[in-house]
Amino acid sequence: MSQDLQNQATVAAEPIGDAVAGVRDRIVGACHRSGRSPMDVRLIAISKTMPPERIREAFQAGIIDFGENRVQEAADKRTVLADLPIIWHLVGTLQRNKAALAARLFDSIHSVDSVAVARKIDSAVEESRARLPVLIQLNLAGEETKGGVSESEAVPMVEELSQLKRIQVKGLMQVPPFFANAELSRPYFRKMAAIRRQILAAKIEGVVMDVLSMGMSHDFEVAIEEGATHIRVGRAIFGERGH
Ligand SMILES: *Cc1c(COP(=O)(O)O)cnc(C)c1O
Repeated sequence: MSQDLQNQATVAAEPIGDAVAGVRDRIVGACHRSGRSPMDVRLIAISKTMPPERIREAFQAGIIDFGENRVQEAADKRTVLADLPIIWHLVGTLQRNKAALAARLFDSIHSVDSVAVARKIDSAVEESRARLPVLIQLNLAGEETKGGVSESEAVPMVEELSQLKRIQVKGLMQVPPFFANAELSRPYFRKMAAIRRQILAAKIEGVVMDVLSMGMSHDFEVAIEEGATHIRVGRAIFGERGH
């Protein structure tokens, strides 16, 4: 093989089908270690910055849940991929002026962290549709660069949102601080599971709380061991994002 071809081979991204199979194997491994069923963990491919063709490839590899962090970017991709029965998740911070569009575009919103945004979403969900599932984003380390509410705000927020008729609070989401060593994420995941139990103990009418959206490419196995029901995986499926 010429030097050029060898170089090309080393930079070429892994085929998406192989990457998805690798992630699924690791999900199964984490489930076995923690006595869980792989059926109870949903893999959401985070396709932000990826072109629609890559999403189509991942869909052909068996993924039906995709997550985006920008409303307009998702709107454009949805148009191109309208022939695929994809379930779209919004995982990025939602500005109030994008809430109505987001309510129409997404099947689930993981990043609700204010009552004002929740009200905007609620008023944009059409009557003819089922209630829109939403998750409350937690920010347990108090990081200013990230959205999310603190532990003490969680129960009051769920109480307020439970009054809204067109959305339904289904659970919690978080993006903990980045640690190269995934073990350091574990206390954050464990804390979120504990906050879920606090909310359930408050017995708020109409609140389900069966979703824990946590774990990304570098730490999803630890998240599964701590009870994640939805993991959000980008780089381990699509390769590194060029910024
Ligand atoms: C980008 C992103 C992910 C995926 O991160 P990877 O490191 O690519 O797996 C998950 N959740 C949120 C909220 C994101 O913004």
